[in-house]
Amino acid sequence: MRTLEEAAREASTCTRCRLAQGRTQVVFGVGDPHADLMFIGEGPGYHEDKQGEPFVGAAGQLLNRMLAEVEIPRSDVYICNVVKCRPPGNRDPLPEEIEACTPYLREQVELIDPVVVVTLGNWATRFILDRQISISRVRGQRFPWNGRTVIPTFHPAAILHGGGENSSQMTALRMDFQAIRQALAERPAPTEEQLGLF
Ligand code: URA
Repeated sequence: MRTLEEAAREASTCTRCRLAQGRTQVVFGVGDPHADLMFIGEGPGYHEDKQGEPFVGAAGQLLNRMLAEVEIPRSDVYICNVVKCRPPGNRDPLPEEIEACTPYLREQVELIDPVVVVTLGNWATRFILDRQISISRVRGQRFPWNGRTVIPTFHPAAILHGGGENSSQMTALRMDFQAIRQALAERPAPTEEQLGLF
């Protein structure tokens, strides 16, 4: 298996789909390469494309706030997207773009090996759970997935563009972040053998 840096290096010059033509740069992912908690968004927006880091714009500010509320440092998690290049005008990624790009995402999951994967919004949730479901039906629930726990929740941008601060979606997002913290806390403690004591 190659390293995350090697995968990121290859992705940085990727031309597997037409999103390569419009990007400023590839937004591969950011954070702890051994994180227990991984977030998957949809695709880079304007600011992410300029800065090369996921979730640095308004949606990222809300994500940061939610993390702070449950006392999880952003630097302890890994954050990436389904597609690594900005779709023009922030349109939804097309099926062929998702197909071309997601070998990178699968590799990121394997290499980072998180305990909990949080899918933000419909696109990440549908890709990971491999079901055409709506986020509002499944948010906050735990799904076992390849030995990990997947918790879908609303995309922060949907809250910013939808109900806003006092909406029921915002309340749901808050509850889901509590569920995320709980799921992380419940991860089975490593055995003495795993810790190398025997
Ligand atoms: N929305 C996303 O889905 N990803 C980002 O990185 C930023 C906004």
